[in-house]
Amino acid sequence: FVIPDFQDFIKIIKDFYWKCKVNTRGKIADYIPQLAKYKPDYWGVSLCTIDGQRYSVGDTEEPFTIQSSGKPLNYGIALSELGSDIVHQYIGQEPSGRMFNELVLDYDSKLVSVHALCVCFRSNLGQQNAPEMRVSEKFDWITQYYKALAGGEYLGFNNATFLSEREAADRNYAIGFYMKENKCFPEKGTLKEIMDFYFQVCSLEVNCETISVMAATLANGGICPITGQQVIDSHAARDVLSLMHSCGMYDYSGQFAFKVGLPAKSGVSGCTMVVVPNVMGICLWSPPLDAYGNSVRGVQFCE
Ligand code: GLN
Repeated sequence: FVIPDFQDFIKIIKDFYWKCKVNTRGKIADYIPQLAKYKPDYWGVSLCTIDGQRYSVGDTEEPFTIQSSGKPLNYGIALSELGSDIVHQYIGQEPSGRMFNELVLDYDSKLVSVHALCVCFRSNLGQQNAPEMRVSEKFDWITQYYKALAGGEYLGFNNATFLSEREAADRNYAIGFYMKENKCFPEKGTLKEIMDFYFQVCSLEVNCETISVMAATLANGGICPITGQQVIDSHAARDVLSLMHSCGMYDYSGQFAFKVGLPAKSGVSGCTMVVVPNVMGICLWSPPLDAYGNSVRGVQFCE
């Protein structure tokens, strides 16, 4: 086993858990009602090692939407399906140093944050002569990928969140139009379809267990430790971890890399997906966010 004295190790994890539990700082995202209604004391920690040792404490079966914590997965899926050359025609690697929803492109007119990765791929980025997927097929296709990454753990879709995200999307639309004007998207696909797909993927529902297995798959070179399936290729998994390391925690990424030194990705629902390469995946979930948009308890636990 990769962690031989698992019981001692768990004692430390539990201790961290309770230390963070009493921290009541932070503010829950309230731009849509489905996020605003999370209880501030929700706090769950799940971990899964690359040989399948599992541990969970707290609200680890409570469902939440994946939001931005899914972006590394989208990036990994795109890399695995299309290869690095095609993906990096559209996606840059340099952290922007800007808020995740800021209206900026880098000098190359490439997207710098991982913000809109999923909007770009497959039906739109698809190989030249691959048949176009219908929007329904695209949704099935990505959920199957997510399910495989999670080794069959809980995955759902929160339609209310999707509808709200689409309602409250002025900023995302502004970014989308700006990108379209600057030819950041391949020719195929309408902006409306691309945006809808983005909101759908943000609205996929998971729990701590799900994310911990997904993170373990990334820790394990793209092979899900529960099923043994190679879900994304190992080069893709490596590139995902590089980008998580440099820009997974919004404008706290530099400090996080310095203090914690692990690839991680946070999201507006309060999820933090953390990877310890070749060891394990961890999910930390607690809705109250700090000024950067990272979960307060998630960051405290990591530090
Ligand atoms: N749905 C959110 C948005 O695009 C996701 C952002 C996030 O998790 N930071 O605005």
